[in-house]
Amino acid sequence: MEKCKECGGRVIEDLVDYKTTILGEEVVIAKVDGYRCLECGYTEIDKNILEGLKIKILDKKLELQKEKIKKFKPLLINNVRRIRESKRIPQKKIGEALGYSEQRFGAIERNDNTPIVSTAILIASTLEVPMEELYGVRYVTKTFYDKIENLTAIEVKNENGEVIEIKFEVIPELVEINKEFHALEEELDKKMEKLRQLKRTDPHYRDIKDTEKEIRELKKNKKKDKNDGKIGLTEKEKKALIKKKQDRIARFKKSPSVVDIIEREAEIKRLKKEKNNVLKKKREIENKGNCILKQSQCIDGHIFNLLKEKYAEEYNTMYEQ
Ligand SMILES: [Zn+2]
Repeated sequence: MEKCKECGGRVIEDLVDYKTTILGEEVVIAKVDGYRCLECGYTEIDKNILEGLKIKILDKKLELQKEKIKKFKPLLINNVRRIRESKRIPQKKIGEALGYSEQRFGAIERNDNTPIVSTAILIASTLEVPMEELYGVRYVTKTFYDKIENLTAIEVKNENGEVIEIKFEVIPELVEINKEFHALEEELDKKMEKLRQLKRTDPHYRDIKDTEKEIRELKKNKKKDKNDGKIGLTEKEKKALIKKKQDRIARFKKSPSVVDIIEREAEIKRLKKEKNNVLKKKREIENKGNCILKQSQCIDGHIFNLLKEKYAEEYNTMYEQ
């Protein structure tokens, strides 16, 4: 760059800040090679540097996304029942149109059964609404999620059997198991993050991975070398080389830092198994108590709207963040 793009003034090479927006947040990457206008102050990043920055930006994006996921939980809102009732179509009629029994269709409405995409499209067209209206995704705050995850909905009916109110009650058993489940989730997250970091930075572990890759490449080329004796290693040389590399791996596997990584891997495996066991128990309690959240994330649209009102404060905090 010889002249400023903005004012045509003289530019010099300088370290400048690079500003960009990632997931709606402004991020500044400070002091990278670029140009600065001496007259108007306009700055620009060197083109080659910008290429390298793309990777850095991608890393930052992933990091922010992870933070976002930590703060919010996605919910799948099932609006099938809400839409059907608003259109005053009996459950039976839709079932007939789809060729389903009332029971099977009822299971879809209650979130006991999530339909495959083609079925969902069919339901949407039968109800004459776009697909996005039938099943929607909402990110809710953790505080809101904590409020609703242990609830069951109880319909209060009048003497004609019409629902006049929906009451929410806590399933006590679920409170306990969810506490246990989230503690395990958190512990696992922390341990896995630490392990990833160790694996990235430990030179011995990296060396083992690189050597394992070299062995795989050597083995892959086996056939090719056999046909062409002149180039490459002979079978004997290759075997010896593989052996040497395997010895190197065995040696490094004994180093304290790698032993530590292997132990951590085993611990994580054990925790994952424990988490699965708790999850199984959790699902049993959820089904028995008719929990409003199915599979931890599906919820009926009408129930969701009621809870949004009931816990408006917890729901609305997400807009402050
Ligand atoms: Zn300028």
